[in-house]
Amino acid sequence: MKTSIIGFPRIGENRELKFATEKYFRNEIKFSELENVGKEIRKNAWQNQKDLDYIVSNDFSYYDLFLDTAFTFNVIAKRYRQLNLSAIDTYFAMARGYQKDGLDVKALSMKKWFNTNYHYMVAEIEDDTEIKLNSTKAFDQYKEAKNLGFETKSTIVGIFTFLKLLDYKGEKNINDFKDDFVNAYISYIEKFQELGLKTLQFEEAYLVYDLSKEDIDLFKEVYQKILAKKGSIKIILQTYFGDVRDIYQQLQELDFDGIGLDFVEGRKTLDLIEKYGFVKGKTLFAGLINGKNIWRNSYEKTLGIIEKLKEKEIDFVIQASSSLIHVPYRVDFEDELDEKYKKHFAFAYEKLEELNDLKKLADLDYKEDQNFIKNKKLFEDRKNLCDRDVKERIENLKDSDFIRSDSFEKREEIQKEELNLPLFPTTTIGSFPQTLDVKRNRKRYKNGQISKEEYEEFNYKKIEECIRLQEDLGLDVLVHGEYERNDMVEYFGEHLSGYLFTKKAWVQSYGTRCVKPPIIWSDIKREEEITVKWSSYAKSLTKKPIKGMLTGPVTILNWSFPREDISVKESTYQIALAIRDEVLELEKSGINIIQIDEAALREKLPLRKSDWFSQYLDWAIPAFRLVHSACKVNTQIHTHMCYSEFTDIIKSIDQMDADVISFEASRSNLEILDSLKENNFRTQVGPGVYDIHSPRVPSVEEIENTLRKILEKVDYKKLWVNPDCGLKTRGEEETVKALHNLVRASKELRDEYRK
Ligand code: GLN
Ligand code: ZN
Repeated sequence: MKTSIIGFPRIGENRELKFATEKYFRNEIKFSELENVGKEIRKNAWQNQKDLDYIVSNDFSYYDLFLDTAFTFNVIAKRYRQLNLSAIDTYFAMARGYQKDGLDVKALSMKKWFNTNYHYMVAEIEDDTEIKLNSTKAFDQYKEAKNLGFETKSTIVGIFTFLKLLDYKGEKNINDFKDDFVNAYISYIEKFQELGLKTLQFEEAYLVYDLSKEDIDLFKEVYQKILAKKGSIKIILQTYFGDVRDIYQQLQELDFDGIGLDFVEGRKTLDLIEKYGFVKGKTLFAGLINGKNIWRNSYEKTLGIIEKLKEKEIDFVIQASSSLIHVPYRVDFEDELDEKYKKHFAFAYEKLEELNDLKKLADLDYKEDQNFIKNKKLFEDRKNLCDRDVKERIENLKDSDFIRSDSFEKREEIQKEELNLPLFPTTTIGSFPQTLDVKRNRKRYKNGQISKEEYEEFNYKKIEECIRLQEDLGLDVLVHGEYERNDMVEYFGEHLSGYLFTKKAWVQSYGTRCVKPPIIWSDIKREEEITVKWSSYAKSLTKKPIKGMLTGPVTILNWSFPREDISVKESTYQIALAIRDEVLELEKSGINIIQIDEAALREKLPLRKSDWFSQYLDWAIPAFRLVHSACKVNTQIHTHMCYSEFTDIIKSIDQMDADVISFEASRSNLEILDSLKENNFRTQVGPGVYDIHSPRVPSVEEIENTLRKILEKVDYKKLWVNPDCGLKTRGEEETVKALHNLVRASKELRDEYRK
């Protein structure tokens, strides 16, 4: 039995790549200096993989692997080529846009990479794009490793996934381009043949989606051609994030030397193997260790699967289920975390150790092995973690706990009367600019330079300023400004027991941006109030209604590392109960508008449509309802989503039973509005009317026009007026001007509609 990984983290143990790249962007270092940082990171990665049977190269990237693949095959839109920059600067212009010397060239757009929190750059292909080999990156990195004494397998995004995810800008489509790409991939292989590469890994995650017959035909066609030219190179077809139930048998028939399957997220992987077998002569790359979560692998469970594979006499290699870029570097770095927690975690380095352990254990009568026993005990320990109160609360949930006692229509009527808001009420999504003073105050508190009282005193002062500002602007529903939060999940996690936080456990989100998701360690419980004091203080300052601001349970879960010993559904219900307590306390203190952000609800929609309802929405929507179901009839519940592409789950969104939903809309084509209408969407809506991602101030007229467009599709009685989310990232000046115009636009329309 052998060991392998699909990819290793690349941002650097101390985020060196991030910092060096940002310096390069600011012209503070030369590219050669950035390259040196890259070289060190690669060397370090290879050294750490030295005990594996397959060490990987070309998984390193200065920004994103999909972008690298586009660059490799010359898929570079004209607007970047015309800049006539060096190769690396053209590459970075694609990633981040180019604003210099009066030029303003837009970056490629970014999309979530399957069901992860990683984002890839969506390369654009134009009708006259000439597909050819354009970069030697993969070859150079192979040689670089070889010079250091490492024979590597090289990885790249496979042709099928690449063709499926490209953005076709002109008239031409996949069919027009596929032959050119087949030829380009063949030249790529030929170049590697000259260099003596032994193994080439094609990453084809798209295969875990629901596939149509055309998809399968396309896959077979392009690979038959490519595999005919593979020569002496062994080709591994690598999949992850699910199972390949739609194409399993066809994969066996094609001339791949290895097939990589995910046993962690691939619910049907083992069934497929049992049912259809695995062809002799091919190697199975079995993804048995979770590449996306941070818990130790259960050796008992994994060795059980290994035994099954052995019985079937399959030639197999064990590996992590996905690239390890989705987990942090190393548990050891967490010097403030107690060993009693740490021993349960495996980040990238520890996962390599696990692979080595498993390889040894598989050849032993392992049940008596100390390593095995120690591992087994970890899972037994966790059985005692259960919080009885939380457990009981969950067990006693009744259907009625998920339903508000008053119907939507009744609530709408009563709220209209009691809140007495004008037509087209104006509001914001919650945060206000986190200016330097806000950040400085938080930092000084975290470093112990100021006391808690001083820290809070400052926040209260900011809240007061924020309220006065909103009153002056004439907004209708005010917020407290969220100065106490640096992050909408971390802040809540810090006030819930059951959460753990790390110091250095960064994971790349995109390019130079990293996130540090908190860990759900045990049962979640709200031990203290979270936001009540901030919202109540805001309320005490004004006669206008204050909107309380909370993060919803599904979003909190989706942006954390989840537990594996209980279901995500159960974890989410626990969080929902904690937030529910906060909602009820806000209500008790007189806050009768409460927004529960579900920024990330759509993010974790399963990749296969057939799983959407049975594996996700069937608990995600109830979890949200659980949060607000006990509210009084006159408490108005808002929710917010960071996207507007929810056309295909629109009924579920309505079933969240919120009274109002705001969503990010200014950068989309507002297709959603048609389906709101078609589906008789009853929740009141606040599509973001201007883009907050740039400092540009929209004019009154512009906002009015947007509103008019929206009004063609939305019942005027149901429309709210708000900007997109994320004002905290903007400066004060443009925010004030833009909101001023927003209020005026709303008033103009109001006068018109009153007549
Ligand atoms: N309430 C948050 C804000 O206004 C929502 C952030 C988000 O949608 N990501 O910043
Ligand atoms: Zn948002």
